[in-house]
Amino acid sequence: MCAVCGCDISVVAENSKNPGSGPAHDHDHAHPHAHDNHEHDHRHLHVHHNHQHEHTDGLIDFGSGRAGLHIAGMSQERTISIERDILSKNDAFADTNRARLQNAGVFALNLVSSPGSGKTSLLVRTITDLIHKWQIAVIEGDQQTSRDADRIRATGAPAVQINTGKGCHLDAHMIGHALDHLPIQSGSLLFVENVGNLVCPAAFDLGEAHKVVVLSVTEGEDKPLKYPDMFAAADLMLLNKSDLLPHLDFDVSTCLAAALRVNPRIQSLTVSARTGEGLAAFYSWIEERASVTAAPAS
Ligand code: MG
Repeated sequence: MCAVCGCDISVVAENSKNPGSGPAHDHDHAHPHAHDNHEHDHRHLHVHHNHQHEHTDGLIDFGSGRAGLHIAGMSQERTISIERDILSKNDAFADTNRARLQNAGVFALNLVSSPGSGKTSLLVRTITDLIHKWQIAVIEGDQQTSRDADRIRATGAPAVQINTGKGCHLDAHMIGHALDHLPIQSGSLLFVENVGNLVCPAAFDLGEAHKVVVLSVTEGEDKPLKYPDMFAAADLMLLNKSDLLPHLDFDVSTCLAAALRVNPRIQSLTVSARTGEGLAAFYSWIEERASVTAAPAS
């Protein structure tokens, strides 16, 4: 939950001041989704300063309260209430997306990672290698620009770019709108490239079949331990940029052990979008699942 960085709280607050408008309601196109009134009472903020723990060893832990996070000026109870409200609405949109994708026979993967792990390059390579066998569409998420969607479209696959502005993740409502604009055929693959962020996208179900977390070997082996929610939410970890391993101290087995400690069921593949190493195994992983899930509904 990303209330700490304020992206969802700011939407709630904005719509509370001005119900029916604000960033969540600025649309210039028709859409079939029902909108709840996003009005929330945001006036009763309680200042609590006692939900962090200070340890004698130099650790100050702001994640130890009941909400698991700290927002300046907001009580733990209020934080939990808002988080529950936001995520329950998101889950409802995700259920709608999932049913829509299943009915259309579309297999969807949600790619998540920190910025710079190589998600877009991995997608470009994957699409280039698979587009002769599969219909493929892409939803791109970034704060600004359509640079990634432009790279995807150059492969011949249709792509919709979602700019989240100050938002740090895609949510299921955004995906519903993007689906309205994508020519997705029955039996196709849908890749969603989330905003580069190892924290917030973990909490938001988009209606995908699987989250795939991409970790590049130029990052730390201990990332799964430092950002456990994301690795717990993912079904597959791709260790990308393996071509750089000879130049780094990165220990693959240490990283895999860290990921398995957080999520004993996570699968992992070591790949390089640059050289193609390991990608055949990734494609098999996709196709094994897509051949079942993406079968058109009878
Ligand atoms: Mg990208």
